[in-house]
Amino acid sequence: MNTNIYKTYLDKASLDHKLLFNGSIKTLGYILKTNKEYFSKKPYQLLGINPSTKIEKGKKINVNTAILYLAPDTTVTNKTICPNASRNGCSKDCLATSGRLGMINGQLAQIRRTLYYLYHNEAFMIQLQNEIDKYHKKYGDSLAVRLNGTSDLNWSTLIAKNPGIQFYDYSKLRNMIVKNKNKNHHYTFSGSMYSDYSRKELTKAVDAGLNIALAFNTKGTKKDTLRIPKKLFNKKLIDFDITDVRFKDKKGSIGYLKRKGSNVNERLIDNKKVNNFFITESNIKELI
Ligand code: SF4
Repeated sequence: MNTNIYKTYLDKASLDHKLLFNGSIKTLGYILKTNKEYFSKKPYQLLGINPSTKIEKGKKINVNTAILYLAPDTTVTNKTICPNASRNGCSKDCLATSGRLGMINGQLAQIRRTLYYLYHNEAFMIQLQNEIDKYHKKYGDSLAVRLNGTSDLNWSTLIAKNPGIQFYDYSKLRNMIVKNKNKNHHYTFSGSMYSDYSRKELTKAVDAGLNIALAFNTKGTKKDTLRIPKKLFNKKLIDFDITDVRFKDKKGSIGYLKRKGSNVNERLIDNKKVNNFFITESNIKELI
């Protein structure tokens, strides 16, 4: 136990900040105090290897993905770690709250990693590099690293120091993608129909020929009414759920993702919304 780590959080973190934790709203201060021993330790590990069923599918094509899951957007701080989340309307349905990540242990781990990133950044970056080195030694060229599993941060300095390793990410920051100079970092732009801003960004991304992911408001069950078209923007839509290995997609690929972590009633309600992170029955007409 390292009481200095814990003390830094008490000194620097926004203790009054409220978040949904284990099913109810709590302050960050309460979560820290009731889990003092846990937050007195540095994160056990920052990167998870092939941690979800979808990501694990990469193994079939000899890709092992190391992924970093932080607590997204403004979960633990007023200063977001996803600068475009509010203009894309994605925070509410963020992957961070689904599956294992949404369970209490997953939540605690995300919060601890994020606090460590924010308030012990130097130690965080050293640990991150050590873990990347460890996995590169273990997996060799089959390793791919996705640092923005549930964040949208700029990791270009670290990635530039690792030219022999493949990194990839989805991002809602079109400018960050366009300015990326690291050849070993592949980006897929994540489109949204939430606001005028996000619609314009999507149009610019299409015009620039970026690789684009679009999340559709369906799980493809019998009760889902939204149908995913075969083509959009004059391009055949690719199934991006088959694997997460985006860096092997052809340049300019546009693909679809089915909605995760929802029930059919939520999806039917959201199908009536024009302004939504997802492609819905009400906004799809704008794209066809
Ligand atoms: S930008 Fe990505 S990680 Fe951040 S809240 Fe939106 S979907 Fe989640």
